[in-house]
Amino acid sequence: MTAAPTWEVFVLEYARAKDQPVDSLINGTHDDGLMDTPFAFVFARSGGRNVLVDTGFMREGIGAEMSERFNVPEWISPLRLLAELGVAPEDVTDIVLSHAHFDHMGSIHKFPRARLYIQKSELLSWHEAMALPRQFGYLTAIINPDDLRSMFDASVEHRVTLLDGDRDNLLPGLHARFGPGHTIGQQFVVLETARGNVVVSGDCVYGARNLTGHSHDGVYVPLNNAIGSVWDQLRTMDRINDAIQGDLGRLIILHDVERWKDMPVQAEVEGFKIVRAA
Ligand SMILES: [Zn+2]
Repeated sequence: MTAAPTWEVFVLEYARAKDQPVDSLINGTHDDGLMDTPFAFVFARSGGRNVLVDTGFMREGIGAEMSERFNVPEWISPLRLLAELGVAPEDVTDIVLSHAHFDHMGSIHKFPRARLYIQKSELLSWHEAMALPRQFGYLTAIINPDDLRSMFDASVEHRVTLLDGDRDNLLPGLHARFGPGHTIGQQFVVLETARGNVVVSGDCVYGARNLTGHSHDGVYVPLNNAIGSVWDQLRTMDRINDAIQGDLGRLIILHDVERWKDMPVQAEVEGFKIVRAA
């Protein structure tokens, strides 16, 4: 029997929103004031595969407009951070997308060889939402239409895999888990590593307290930035809690306001951290 594949996992911080109300992301925090919210994506490698979980966004075109609108003044190119790890865009073999918000898939057009994996319900629900009359614009406020165009281009090139729910071993030792709530077809990712399973949250969780409860009573706290139901959000949080066996050290929260403080820093580029998660 051969040993199970293990993944090396890095979290790459590439942007920060300034003075964002905590209450805009996490329910029941109206007295918590403002925070600077980090933005991140994940690089993982194993057995010749160079994998991204999400991609960050490029500050060009509509992506630049959106970073203004959402007050994200601090940014570094995701490509610059990957270069720090010795990874060129054409080296990236696979990209697993948690969801289609611009800050998670706004660089997919920079990776010409990568296969893209997204939940079918995620991609198609955005196409449907885009087609609704303009009074439904709240639904698509965080969607960059150019990213959907890039997804279509990649589809024409047969580089897109549409997932329909959970997929064990999407890549060896990398598991996709359906996690609706923040969006209709959100997914989170479980990676088998040398220190056990590590979970990439997508935006299923914005902060530890979504899982721990406001007073550490374990009562899940909903998101305040979501288009799916609270029931779906909490069911997804419960699945994540199962996947990490209640150990928050196994969870990578992409917008972690504490900036992955328990994970060793691999590099720092212009004030942005690359930390090693496994
Ligand atoms: Zn999101």
